[in-house]
Amino acid sequence: MNSVFVYSSEFDTYSLGENHPFKPYKATMVHELCYRYGLFDEPWIKVLEPEPAGEEAMLEYHSKEYVEALKDANSGSFDFTMLEYGLGTGDNPVFKGVYDFSLLVLGATLLGAERIAEGHADTVFSPVGGLHHAGYDHAEGFCYVNDIVIAIQRLLKQGFRKILYIDIDAHHGNGVQDAFYDRDDVLFISFHQSGETLYPWSGFENEMGIGKGIGYTVNMPLPEYTDDEAYVSTFKDIYTPLARSFRPDCVVAQIGLDTLKRDPLTNLRLTNNGYCRVIEEIRESCSRVLALGGGGYSVPDVVRGWTLAWAMLNKLKPHDPYEGIVSGNMLPQGQGFKELYDPPYRLSEQIRHDLDLYLNEKTAFIRENIFPLHGIR
Ligand SMILES: [Zn+2]
Repeated sequence: MNSVFVYSSEFDTYSLGENHPFKPYKATMVHELCYRYGLFDEPWIKVLEPEPAGEEAMLEYHSKEYVEALKDANSGSFDFTMLEYGLGTGDNPVFKGVYDFSLLVLGATLLGAERIAEGHADTVFSPVGGLHHAGYDHAEGFCYVNDIVIAIQRLLKQGFRKILYIDIDAHHGNGVQDAFYDRDDVLFISFHQSGETLYPWSGFENEMGIGKGIGYTVNMPLPEYTDDEAYVSTFKDIYTPLARSFRPDCVVAQIGLDTLKRDPLTNLRLTNNGYCRVIEEIRESCSRVLALGGGGYSVPDVVRGWTLAWAMLNKLKPHDPYEGIVSGNMLPQGQGFKELYDPPYRLSEQIRHDLDLYLNEKTAFIRENIFPLHGIR
């Protein structure tokens, strides 16, 4: 095993605004917690510092006009023409260094992709990557650069034939879906809160790709209140057989953690227990995994969850040489076990019934319409 954690303290210097939910400093907190729990101690693990990518890397996917607009926004001053590119909205504010920040995010993801492509690493995590909403010619959903699309394109260019993209962020990975919608060398799978109730209002099960890409876009919309039990069993029903049949050369995973029940922007009800089971399934599905952070707005929960994810990806158990219990929701000492064994949130019979009905219907649709295209019975 050769693992790389991609991290730069430089991320701390950027802010989308005090009240903006996306906090680049999450990376530093994850880095610190992983360090504290001994998760960089193994000889096969490296922490690497990225360099910012160049403009030409951004142009590998984004339009010239958009990149120019983003560059203009770098000074932090807004003009109305930027709105055409999704810049200067509440979600995507213009802030000082927005272009530099985007280049650094992209540089971090591409460093990971390159380590994997060149055979120097099989497992990578870049917590600030995974900006899955950014479009070809615009910013949206807190995302200014689609580092995922550019990384997948690079992996394909460097000789990998089949990439599986799995997106477990609570929001649909619309920007990545759009980029590969007609392709059969990228299997796109997204589990997300349904577009009926959450931005970006897309990702329905009948969005299945076009042309030779039919069957290579798989969307699993989830109802509000989806909890660990419902999520994990649906994930195993859909993701695991598809991954087994597709046999990817590399899995690119956007492991956003806005699915947790305390997340302020979404309405799912996961805990880190369910999340870890899913990370384990992803780990088992391919020997090469490029994991990218994505969303997650209950910051302490996300930091604990991503620390656990890094441990799972490396098949390690976090251990705290000082004190503390790391389990369940990874709450501070004295709260962790309470959370694990006595969850404060239980679904009512009625909600559980509706949840099962909804998920069974969506699962049946995918089994009927997509599984046969992959030869899965
Ligand atoms: Zn999200």
